[in-house]
Amino acid sequence: MIMKFNKRTFTRMLGFSILSAIFPINYLLASAKKVVNSNLSDQQKNIMFNEGTERPYSSDLLNEKRKGFYHCANCGNKLFASNSKFDSGTGWPSFSKALPGAFNTTIDYSFGRERVEYHCAKCGVHHGHVFNDGPRESGKRFCNNGLCLIFKPD
Ligand SMILES: [Zn+2]
Repeated sequence: MIMKFNKRTFTRMLGFSILSAIFPINYLLASAKKVVNSNLSDQQKNIMFNEGTERPYSSDLLNEKRKGFYHCANCGNKLFASNSKFDSGTGWPSFSKALPGAFNTTIDYSFGRERVEYHCAKCGVHHGHVFNDGPRESGKRFCNNGLCLIFKPD
């Protein structure tokens, strides 16, 4: 029993050191995220924890036009007010600005281009990318996966 435990612990430790040596930044980022909502679907987890992307035009929130706030589907953090939502024509829920302190950002170099990835400031999960081609005074376009959001009408 003790032998088995030690062997397993050793294998696990070896696995972690190899992973963190190859992907030091990803490893640190991944370890900073935490599951708060235990009812997340596999698709939600893939987007939030592996920087996945939902299919365009698949979100029910695209046609959401009521007044209210958009919250993080993992931790409930308040992220966007409905008056910042606009139709970007991209197929993902889009916002011209986030609520103060809602997100932190990192530079994402995947797919050979530089994009600004943003994640929930409270629980660390991925939400989307922010671009500088937005409308209105902010000039920003927060391109958010609808599956990461929960809308609460006023
Ligand atoms: Zn969150």
